[in-house]
Amino acid sequence: MLSFLNEAKAMQEKLSWIRREIHKKPEVGMDLPITTAFVMEQLEKHGIKAERIIESGISALIEGGKPGKTLLIRGDMDALPLVEESGEEFASEFEGKSHGCGHDMHAASLIGTAILLNKYKDQIHGRVKFMWQPGEEIFAGAKAMIEAGIMENPSLDAALDLHVDASSPIGVLNYSKGPFTTSADNYLIKIKGSGSHGSTPENSIDPLNVAVQIYNAIGAMRVREIKSSEFLAMSICSISSGSSFNIIPDSVEMRGTMRTYNPEIRDYVVRRIEEITTQIASLYRAEASLEIVSSAPTIVNNPEMVDKVNAYLEDFGMDFETDPNYRLSASDDFGYIARTVPSVMFFIGCKPEGVGRNFLHNPKVVFDEAALPISSALLAHVAMKWLEEHA
Ligand SMILES: [Zn+2]
Ligand SMILES: [Zn+2]
Repeated sequence: MLSFLNEAKAMQEKLSWIRREIHKKPEVGMDLPITTAFVMEQLEKHGIKAERIIESGISALIEGGKPGKTLLIRGDMDALPLVEESGEEFASEFEGKSHGCGHDMHAASLIGTAILLNKYKDQIHGRVKFMWQPGEEIFAGAKAMIEAGIMENPSLDAALDLHVDASSPIGVLNYSKGPFTTSADNYLIKIKGSGSHGSTPENSIDPLNVAVQIYNAIGAMRVREIKSSEFLAMSICSISSGSSFNIIPDSVEMRGTMRTYNPEIRDYVVRRIEEITTQIASLYRAEASLEIVSSAPTIVNNPEMVDKVNAYLEDFGMDFETDPNYRLSASDDFGYIARTVPSVMFFIGCKPEGVGRNFLHNPKVVFDEAALPISSALLAHVAMKWLEEHA
């Protein structure tokens, strides 16, 4: 059996260089011209056929030498609107943008996976499809690539994804069965009232009063209508309106997020927030609407596939510390793929030694680049084995 791990470790310097080049020039959202061109260039340099199926979304296909199925490996490459304070010598050169979610690590390690699998493609049963997507942080990139046909021609039989875990050291790897990440719904409530002088509230329909009632009713709904043992994070994170001591404003905007592992709870809560919003508004003579601005489904790790991965990792060449009950209270738009084909998402430790509190979406977050070759090899190893077993 091939040792992808040793081969990948020999690429450490190359993978770190690729990661740093991406890290220095972080791009946010759906438009990543520099990052996309750089990833394309690296793939071409290594003889891997790739194409842009959307402006900043890359698809590549490695056709194996033997017949079999098709497995997709997904990576993302977008950054965050976050000022970097990591102190790294290769820190962001773009003001107000940084790779605080480690998608530079994903984009680079997936190039490593493609290099490894391309080298041994004669031994692959079936084919491996790759995607490098934009817009994960806004839950738009996976959807756009699905609409552009990433799931077809050839159609997929399984999928893998990997995210860095900045809070755990190298050697920790989680991919537990069943619901692995929460779904996410980011919503906007718009309340329209009628302003007046602060001294004559009777002449107004005060939208701030409506906002307070809605805020409280949403909190009460969570406590009174949902079982306390259900994980459900509901946070209203922004209420914006008004600018003065004595002017009642016309309108209010409230922004919130909702996270759960349970799709039924998700649907129930969305319906209830809408009812609460519109009915409280009308009770107080105002108007209000609810808009789900962006969402991602929960990622469910396919139980049989997780059992297979456990077996495949026995001869990977490295032992991992794994918690079979691990759940991630975050969301990822890989959920749009995982709800369609059997999938596994990995969460791989990469907290550098000697670093204290370290977590994703933090300006000071740092990553151990030794995780790059491990990630490259892990995905190559699991993909190769799964395709061999399912040929
Ligand atoms: Zn993120
Ligand atoms: Zn992320």
